[in-house]
Amino acid sequence: QADVVLAGVEKRYGNTIALRSMDLSIERGELFALLGPSGCGKSTTLRLIAGFEQPSAGRVFVRGNDVTRIPSSKRNFGIVFQGFALFPHMTVAQNVGFGLRMRKLQKSEMKQRVMSALELVGLDHLADRYPRQLSGGQQQRAALARAIVIEPDVLVLDEPMSALDKILRDRMQVEIRRIQQRLKMTTILVTHDQEEALGMADRVGVLNGGRIEQVGTPRSIYETP
Ligand code: ADP
Ligand code: ADP
Repeated sequence: QADVVLAGVEKRYGNTIALRSMDLSIERGELFALLGPSGCGKSTTLRLIAGFEQPSAGRVFVRGNDVTRIPSSKRNFGIVFQGFALFPHMTVAQNVGFGLRMRKLQKSEMKQRVMSALELVGLDHLADRYPRQLSGGQQQRAALARAIVIEPDVLVLDEPMSALDKILRDRMQVEIRRIQQRLKMTTILVTHDQEEALGMADRVGVLNGGRIEQVGTPRSIYETP
């Protein structure tokens, strides 16, 4: 059962072809890594999947619906950006709750959902701190909690480790993967880091020049000469 389907998707910006007839199917609950160098079309693919932009040709479906026809209020994406983008003037709990503000929840339910997201990432004891009072790894956990508190249909991780040093990066890869599997959340990881993609993903799509060159399990990608 595919959660995200791209069918013959093409994206042009003026004379630039950012994506060329892309066909891709991402299964429910899998972690799919989009791997490729800068400029290969990773961000464009994400923007199309999130419905921020329209394809020049082809169609994008999320849970069977054409994303261009899903009203923005019904689009349910959790996104962890590179650099985390936490609001500096809000506490950790307020940052995580921010994603829920449109949901018109009771205050008590909101609080409970924020706390259980923070527990999941091991940050419940730091709920009242401000981002600058957190380490890099803790900030990343807070950003992850903010993305998953809405129980997204699709979780997008956009170069999520790029702000972390190597040791922390390795640790967070394992931790994020564990949380993703526990929640069985359909997840798209965008990265230029081959080790990260092959180490974390169920399947990897190798993008180059706006084209998917290869799709497969990490093992099958390793074994390709
Ligand atoms: P990546 O995320 O892999 O670095 P992008 O999706 O950002 O790649 O870009 C793919 C190609 O499309 C690049 O050649 C880039 O310059 C071009 N591109 C992306 N967005 C725009 C835009 N808004 N206007 C013009 N060209 C763009
Ligand atoms: P890049 O990630 O290549 O730096 P930009 O920052 O130029 O791309 O993003 C251009 C637009 O796409 C912005 O309006 C931003 O809100 C949106 N955007 C950036 N990253 C993502 C993402 N991971 N998913 C969805 N939209 C994104």
